[in-house]
Amino acid sequence: MKKIKIALLGLGNVGQGVWQILNTNKKQITLNCGYEIEVSKILVQNIEKPRTIEIPKELLTTRIEDILVDDEIKIVIELMGGSNPAMQYMLKAMKCKKHVITANKLVLATQGEELFRTSEEEGVSFYYEASVGGGIPIIREINESLTANKIEQLVGIINGTTNYILTKMTHEGMDFNEALRGAQEMGFAEADPTSDIEGYDAAYKLAIMASLSFGTKIELNCIYREGIRNIKAIDIDYADKFGYVIKLLAIGKNTKDNLELRVHPTMIPKNHPLANVNDSFNAIFIKGNAVGDLMLYGRGAGALPTGSAVVGDLISILRNNTDLSALTSVKNGSSQKKVQTAEENTSGYYVRLNVQDKPGVLGEIATIFGRYDVSILTVTQEVKSEDNVPLVFITHEAQEGNMNKSLKDIQGLSHVNGVENIIRIENFS
Ligand code: NAP
Repeated sequence: MKKIKIALLGLGNVGQGVWQILNTNKKQITLNCGYEIEVSKILVQNIEKPRTIEIPKELLTTRIEDILVDDEIKIVIELMGGSNPAMQYMLKAMKCKKHVITANKLVLATQGEELFRTSEEEGVSFYYEASVGGGIPIIREINESLTANKIEQLVGIINGTTNYILTKMTHEGMDFNEALRGAQEMGFAEADPTSDIEGYDAAYKLAIMASLSFGTKIELNCIYREGIRNIKAIDIDYADKFGYVIKLLAIGKNTKDNLELRVHPTMIPKNHPLANVNDSFNAIFIKGNAVGDLMLYGRGAGALPTGSAVVGDLISILRNNTDLSALTSVKNGSSQKKVQTAEENTSGYYVRLNVQDKPGVLGEIATIFGRYDVSILTVTQEVKSEDNVPLVFITHEAQEGNMNKSLKDIQGLSHVNGVENIIRIENFS
């Protein structure tokens, strides 16, 4: 049996998952790729750190040079996270003619182009299945199985932490802070949860998926991003009454002239398949012009699911599969469509106002919406105290710029105490 030496950069959650899979499924992996895989070096920060799995200590190193100068190491798997030195190490490995695999969405979303270019220049493979959706094989789906399609839409629940929190708020009536604390205790949320809660993590993943699906380079700052911190129990209750659930969605639409890219809390109909994606699960709903509707569902994170995607990449390289590093259209940036600004986007809206219960308020607000072409679908008012009345509107699809102008004027009305929340609605029409 042929042998191949590989190195891991990082032995944290995912690194340990990869080690476990390579050992537990060794026989099957060897049969599937035709090689006996040997992990010959592992880069870590701290060799003495206690690990949950047993690793021969002589494999550990803190010096990247030990890996770079070893010509027998043919494949480097980057599982350190962060921008640098992960990016520099991957570039150096490629320049030493080593194939590279990564799970690093941050680096891919911000500096992916340089990695694709360098891998091409150096004639090595670059694989990154685990960077989006953990164990869900979404990259391979887009780069391989769906290449006969024009992908028109991608709608994903691609952050497990926020999905776990919103599920707890919806099904167990927890408030945001209580659900976040629970997520941290369960290990679903980091001590600093900003990247997840504020939608950055989902935006990185959307940038990767959209650039591959729509054949263009996506600048992160073109993606509208809003997190879930402002979602209150009252919004969850109203969503339920109107037949919706609230999910943090990453939405990519390839319209006739433009691209629409956004990450934000969204009300979706309870009967849509994405509405039933709960806890820390992820799912990506794709609309292709040939395949129609398609949904991928699974574990978006975790040592073994993510390790499964990483080892899948490793086997692909060893089988010498077609280079999936990036489609030619992405490399050439063939579709240079403009990404719409948030103001140009359209969707339905849930608008929760706090008003005083005075005659004429509703009429004044409806007049303002009408002035800016925002058409009201339903309105609900619950009078509990005359001075603080929640007034909730559901609108038909409207342009966000028009919605913003309406809200600015509405805020100026003397009997309106404030705009409490606005949540976009996606009806998948
Ligand atoms: P992690 O648990 O924090 O592990 C990071 C590992 O990298 C540790 O072993 C650490 O060494 C090592 N490391 C960090 N900086 C280093 C440096 N400067 N030099 C040498 N070693 C360094 O991270 P993780 O959760 O496994 O995530 C790894 C990557 O996978 C990230 O890009 C992440 O976004 C991605 N990912 C993770 C998941 C998931 O479920 N966790 C899912 C999908 C994708 P020490 O052990 O010595 O500290």
